[in-house]
Parts: sequence; structure tokens; C-alpha cells
Amino acid sequence: MIEKRLIQHLYPTYLLIMVLALGAFGWYAMASLKDFLFARTASELAARAGFTEVLMQGRWSEDPAEVDRICKRLGKRTNTRITLILPDGVVLGDSDEDPRKMENHARRPEVQAVLHGEVGRSLRFSRTLQKKMMYRAEAVREEGRLVGVVRTAIPVTTLEYLVASVKYRIFVGIILIGLLSAGVGLIIYRRLSRPLIEMREGAEQFARGELDYRLPIPDSGHLGSLAVALNRMAGQLKERIDTIVRQRNEQEALLSGMMEGVIAIDMERRILSMNRAAAALFGVHAGEVRGKRLAEISRAIDLQEFVEKVIVGGETVEEELAIFAGGEQYLQAHGTLLKDSEFRRIGALVVLNDITRIKRLEKVRRDFFDNVSHELRTPLTSITGYVETLRDGAMDRPKDAARFLEVIHRQSNRLLAIIEDLLALSRIEQGTERGSIEFEETDINALVERAIQLLEKMAGEKKITIDQSFEPDLSARVNGRLLEQAVQNLLNNAVKFSSEGKTVRVTTVKEEERFLIRVTDEGPGIPREYLPRLFERFYRIDRDRNREMGGTGLGLAIVKHIAQAHRGVVTVESTPGRGSTFTICLPLA
Ligand code: ADP
Repeated sequence: MIEKRLIQHLYPTYLLIMVLALGAFGWYAMASLKDFLFARTASELAARAGFTEVLMQGRWSEDPAEVDRICKRLGKRTNTRITLILPDGVVLGDSDEDPRKMENHARRPEVQAVLHGEVGRSLRFSRTLQKKMMYRAEAVREEGRLVGVVRTAIPVTTLEYLVASVKYRIFVGIILIGLLSAGVGLIIYRRLSRPLIEMREGAEQFARGELDYRLPIPDSGHLGSLAVALNRMAGQLKERIDTIVRQRNEQEALLSGMMEGVIAIDMERRILSMNRAAAALFGVHAGEVRGKRLAEISRAIDLQEFVEKVIVGGETVEEELAIFAGGEQYLQAHGTLLKDSEFRRIGALVVLNDITRIKRLEKVRRDFFDNVSHELRTPLTSITGYVETLRDGAMDRPKDAARFLEVIHRQSNRLLAIIEDLLALSRIEQGTERGSIEFEETDINALVERAIQLLEKMAGEKKITIDQSFEPDLSARVNGRLLEQAVQNLLNNAVKFSSEGKTVRVTTVKEEERFLIRVTDEGPGIPREYLPRLFERFYRIDRDRNREMGGTGLGLAIVKHIAQAHRGVVTVESTPGRGSTFTICLPLA
């Protein structure tokens, strides 16, 4: 573009100025030359007339043929037409013609002028010679008396030829000078414009972001320092851009690595940016939310009100928010104003901490304390009641007293059992958390057998057979005491819930990387809807009946925690009316 503009504007202008200047000069030179030539010729004609006048002094009255002869010789020698005319207009002699044949010259303008005492000059067409002539006439006086007129003339065509040939040369000269200076102009223009074009191309490269490019430095002083300055500017720009990119990458890495959700919102409540954690909270893609309204991303009124508070209130706000995004979620929100470098408000920055898990744990803990209190209160109320009855006189009735004491004893045992189970649970949980549970290579079949032995008495009372089918040579790294307790709990339930004469089957199975301990009974089975919550603490299907059977509601919870302590699981399959199968599944290593 610059190049084109230079050619289109600068160079034609230069050419125009040059042509005008040369034209004006040529015109002026030619006009002056013509004037000069005519003036010079006129003064020469005057000189020749004067010379002829001096030469002819005293000869005017001589023989006209002699006068005419002199006239002709003079004319030939001086290349001038010379005419001698008497005051009455009669031609006495003429260098080019026979005077006798010539007409009276009294009315010729140059002669008229001289006769009237003026300078005789004229430029006109000669009727005698049939061409345009320049005339000069001088008066000849003898003793103060006019005796005749000397007239000299030359054809103007001679002069015009001369002028034309000079004109031609000037014209050729001008053309040559014009061409030369056009060429020189072009060379100068090229020399000036090349560095400019290079600089323009360099600047375009810089604009495209190729900041490693360097402009060639031209020799000329100003352009040279301009190129140096541009190169330096590109270097500094590159450094700054590199710094900004590095900082941005660091910030992005920091933000996307954060567990907390971070959202920047502008004054129009549109999202400026959002990190990965925040996008995950709202189930959107972090790269696609820029420019969207907050309300499009989350319907949570709480969150929108929170942002309003930050932007309008202009203070740091901290609150707990409940939002629904595929399920109830609790967020701890911290909001501050976003300000630009001149401390003008440009939006809000909100940091969100997902506290749903903490909330859920809090609830579990609260429920647990409720349950524990409830579980402990029932036997304690009963104990207190019987103790009061005894104190109020029942002690004196030995039969009642014995019965009441029996109840008190049973309830105390129940309290003890609950507390022991709770302690066991808490020990397992703590052990798992701290990793303090010890594992050693153990014979699994022997362990299961020990658990069976402990329940044989109870099974015998109910005429229940305990069948066993063991994988030979099954050993694994486990905590023997805990795993025995888990099997015992499962067996205990199986025997407890089976009716008389049924069979309980205990199986051990070895698979590729894990082993299973399976306890199957032919008891009442468990309806499907209860299965998901079966392993929760204090969860019982039929509270009252179960309590009578002496259950604490913690047995399966303990099994679950023991399995988890071994990085394994416990599962249940059950068909109501036909029986249940509980399976502990643990890794071999
Ligand atoms: P408990 O100590 O009261 O037995 P558990 O945690 O061991 O408590 O069991 C929880 C509940 O699961 C029991 O109340 C019972 O209703 C049900 N349950 C457990 N094992 C069996 C089983 N083998 N057959 C039928 N129901 C069972």
C-alpha cells in the first residue's frame, strides 16, 4: 500500500513539477531568444543602413546606374537587401531588383516613418520579393537637407529558421533533461522507498505476532534509527507477551488445580471465567461459559442473591449456600469485589467450597448420636424403672424381686453389648484411618472353623446344622481376630434368624486375586427395599422383635467396617421366604 501510494502520489507529482518547470523554462528561453534575435537583427539592419548611408555620402546625384551597381555589390556582400529611395519615393537603387521596374516607395511604412522624423522600422510582407521581411530605414541628409532614404531589409524566414532550429535543440535538450531526471528521480525514489517498504513488511510481521523477526538496518541515519527503535520495540513486546503468557499459564494451572470452584463475574452478571472445579459443580464445560449469564449456568437463587450482595454491597461476603445440581449440594461461598488497576469495580470473584460431604457426615454423626442415645435410653429406662419398683417395696417380695433383678441383669448385659459393639466399631474405624490394623498371613479355613465352634452350642439348641465347604489351602494376609469376629456376626445372624431344624452353610472360595467367605441360611430372608440400608449402624428391620432376640443393630455395620479395613466388601443376596446369603469378599494380598 505504502509503496503504491508513493508511486501514485509522490512520483507523479515529482514528474509533473519537473515537466512544468522544464516547460516554463523552455517557453521562457525560446521567447527570450526570439526577442533577442529580432532585436539584434533590427540593430544590425540599422548599423548596415548607417554604414550604407556613410558610404553613399555625396553620391546621390551621381549616375543612377552606378549607384544601383554599388547597391547590388553591397547587398551581395552583406547578405542584406539594400534599397536607396529618393525623398519623393522614387527608387534610386536596389540590391535585389531593377529600380526602374520598382514602384514608388513613398507609402512604405518605414519610409513614411523616416519622412516624419521617426525611427523607420517595419515587419511586413514585401510585394516586390513576395516574402515576409524586416525593414529598417535611415534618413540621409546633406547640409541639413533630406536627400534620400537608405532602407535595409532581410527576410524574416531566415530568422524564423534560426529560431526554429534553436527551439528544436532546446526541445530536445528539455526532453533529455526530463528523461534523465525522471530516471534519477526513480532511482532516488527506489532508494528511499525500499527501506520504507522493508519496514512496513517488518511491521506487518510484528503485527502477525512474529516478534522474533528483525528489520534490516538501512544506512540512512533517520531510517536506521527508526529500524533500530522498531526492533527494540519488538524485543520488548516479545518479553512482555512472554511474561504475560507465563503468568496466565501459571494462574490457569493454579486455578484449575484448585479444589475450590472459582468464578469471576462482571458487572452485567456475565461470567468472565470459571475454573474446572466450578464448572464441575454446575455440570458445565469451563471453556464454554465465558460471556454467559450466571442465571444460565445455575438456577440457584441463593447463588444469584449472593453475587448481588457482593456486587451491590461491595464488601467481602461469606455464606453457606444450598444449590440443586443433580442432587442437593452445600457450598461455602466467599465473595469479594473485583477491581481494575484504577480500583473501579469490574465485577465479583466468588470462591466456592463444596461442603456437601462435610454436611452429610455431620448429619450421619448427628443421626448416630440420636440413635446411640435412643438405644442406650431404652434399657436404662427399664433398669431405672425396676430399681425404683424394688426400692418402693418390691424388694420385700422375693419372687418379684428375683424376676425384676433378672430383667435388670438382661438389660445391663444389653447395654454392655451395645457399648462393646460401639467400642469395637470405633476401634475398627480408627484403625482403618490410622492404618494401625496389623495383617498377617492367616489360614482362613481354620479361622472360619473357630467362629463356627463358638456358635455350635446356640445352633445345637435350635437343632440347626452348620454345613461347611472349604477351599483347600486358603490363606491370606488378614487381621485374624477382626475377620473371625465378622464371620461370627454373620453366623450369629444366620442362626438367630433361622427357624429350628434348618441348615446354615459356610463356604470359602478362592478366586484369582480375592477370596470369599459366604454364609447362607434358610431363614426368613430380607425384603429387597431393606437391602440398601442393611449395613447401617442401628438399622433393624423389625426393631422390637430384634431387640427381644438381643441384637444391637451394630453386627452388620461391624462386618462392613472389617471388610473395608481389609480393602474388601460385604454383600447380601436374599429371597424373602427362602433365605439369605452374606458374602465377605477380600483381596488375597
Ligand atoms: P442385630 O445385631 O440386631 O442382628 P445386625 O446389624 O446384625 O443387627 O442386623 C441388622 C438387621 O438385619 C437385623 O435386625 C435383621 O433384621 C436383619 N438381618 C441380619 N441378618 C439376617 C439374616 N441372616 N436373615 C434375616 N435378616 C437378617
